[in-house]
Amino acid sequence: MNIVRVALDVPVPRLFDYLAADSDQSDIGRRVIVPFGKASRSGVIVSLATASEHDKLKAVTTILRDMPALPAEWLALCEFCSRYYQAPLGEVTSFALPPLLRRGKLPRAGKTAAAAGPVAAPDLPELMTTQQAAVDAISGTAGFHTMLLHGVTGSGKTEVYLRAIDAVLARGGQALMLVPEIALTPQLEGRVAARFPGAHIVCANSGMADAARARGFLDALAGRADIVLGTRLAVFIPLPRLQLIVVDEEHDASFKQQEGLRYSARDVAVWRAHQLNIPIVLGSATPSLESFHHASTGRYEMLELPERAVAEAMPVVRIVDTRREKLQEGLSADLLAGLQQRLERGEQSLVFLNRRGYAPVLACPPCGWISHCLRCAANLVVHLADRRLRCHHCGFEAAIPRACPDCGNVDLLPFGRGTQRLETMLVERFPEARVLRIDRDSASTPKKWQALLATIHAGGADILVGTQMMAKGHDFPLLTLVGAVGADAALFAADFRAPERLFAQLMQVGGRSGRAELPGEVLIQTEYPDHPLYRALVDHDYVRFARAQLDERRIAGFPPFSFQAMLRAEARNIEQSLAFLIEARSAGEALADGVTLYDAVPMRMQRLMTLERGQLLVESSSRPALQTFLATWMEQIYALKMPAGLRWHLDVDPQEF
Ligand code: ADP
Ligand code: ZN
Ligand code: ZN
Repeated sequence: MNIVRVALDVPVPRLFDYLAADSDQSDIGRRVIVPFGKASRSGVIVSLATASEHDKLKAVTTILRDMPALPAEWLALCEFCSRYYQAPLGEVTSFALPPLLRRGKLPRAGKTAAAAGPVAAPDLPELMTTQQAAVDAISGTAGFHTMLLHGVTGSGKTEVYLRAIDAVLARGGQALMLVPEIALTPQLEGRVAARFPGAHIVCANSGMADAARARGFLDALAGRADIVLGTRLAVFIPLPRLQLIVVDEEHDASFKQQEGLRYSARDVAVWRAHQLNIPIVLGSATPSLESFHHASTGRYEMLELPERAVAEAMPVVRIVDTRREKLQEGLSADLLAGLQQRLERGEQSLVFLNRRGYAPVLACPPCGWISHCLRCAANLVVHLADRRLRCHHCGFEAAIPRACPDCGNVDLLPFGRGTQRLETMLVERFPEARVLRIDRDSASTPKKWQALLATIHAGGADILVGTQMMAKGHDFPLLTLVGAVGADAALFAADFRAPERLFAQLMQVGGRSGRAELPGEVLIQTEYPDHPLYRALVDHDYVRFARAQLDERRIAGFPPFSFQAMLRAEARNIEQSLAFLIEARSAGEALADGVTLYDAVPMRMQRLMTLERGQLLVESSSRPALQTFLATWMEQIYALKMPAGLRWHLDVDPQEF
């Protein structure tokens, strides 16, 4: 009997057997259409068999032989993710394929790859010694080796990646470069294309049209692509001659997917490099503490670029103590003076506030009513620009009420401050200035974002008000002042990673300033002027900050000194969610060897989209012990009786608490 084992995207951790009379070895890795229940589904053949433990097997509908089979190493990568993240293999293979191929289709033939011909090589800058050393270390590496390239913005990291990629292409190899958000980095795309004019570059991100994404995947699979440049999903693109992986901004949270398959593209990339026995470079100005820890213990090699490539100073960082000052709409006299001065000099400033909207909440002081979301445990944010109240968690929105729904009072007050409010205030305060707001509301599409960037570059704005969008990899040559407002909140957040993120953001946003001939200045408003995090920023001392954080984490037993997984459940009411988690916990307790199971608790934001959510943290000082535990525990959880309407998932290496 010829049987094929198929990975199907269904939430059951097993493969499905089908009869396939005409199948042979060459069909492993092919997509297949099979009957499933009353419908048909497409999946991937992962192995062949001659007998099955199931009887009454159905026959496959068709084996799709219209494209090359997915290679064994691609299946192995998916199997690793399935094991490590405890996700059904079919869920992984389905996610790893572009949507069109996943549905069993093929893209219509598009533009074929430009033939690589002799093209004039662009002028290359002469490398600094530290850059050269980094390039040599990367290019001189044979086999698996993880290098952490640490250098501030402008220190020439990208130049190093490009040289290393160049060497790979010269040897006939392929390179994979992962970046956090390609929609925000067309500059990089342009730079790579300009550097390798004869090369076939494939871009991959979720914003692309289905056909283009599928074509890129097929080009890579067939070995036609030289360089794949993409966001986290690109880590799954098959590359038969892959010789180098680069993960730029490796600390960026967007490498971890927060829904569905909760994988970390950076970690999967390291595993892939290990699997293929090739070098991998992780680059950042503020490496994740996990990576920095690995570099300190010698598991990764640290490559340092201590200076900026183009002779210019780092921005001067100053702390503005706001404890004794009456702020004007949240801005200190120092920051206002700085803005005024830049205006007079015709330079740009940025006020950085990581909160969009006009105000975080609308309130009725006499009766205590506040605008809260009907579906979530969250407040509705005031958006004055279009007079709406919006939930930033579930998207619910409503018109701003004319009067308090509880007591009829018409004097409702917006409390707190978001980017829209700052914008309004700055327009009033500096009537001659052109104020531009950059956040997910004003840059809601890539096109709008491009237009905003063009305006900034053309000098069409004097004062920018922006969220973390402004911190993403862009040069703003006219920008010489950055004021950070409202940063303190992150110092005492419940999430132990909040300070790490704040440091990276402030470092990044500061790095946007003063990159041309104009020196930059960063003002941080705070009520904790002596906080070590801010002090380290003043000294541009990432390493001091990282060591101090790691000491705290070691004492607290947090990652990277422990390994975690989070089981989350959601249901109509919190009792159901918690009951499920408690049951899962007692099922796990008997197995827990070297693993700690914490109590089931409601999530910090308990209600989301009308569902009530709970979580259960599992922790171990040994990754293998945690992995072993999770594998058996999952079997037990799948066997539990689920109340209707309850949904659960496991998040391995959770990033958000
Ligand atoms: P990073 O990726 O660390 O931000 P880049 O590689 O983008 O740094 O370099 C910053 C700027 O300096 C770029 O304009 C780049 O072309 C330039 N650059 C990089 N290395 C050199 C060098 N050795 N000599 C001159 N300019 C350089
Ligand atoms: Zn909501
Ligand atoms: Zn009221």
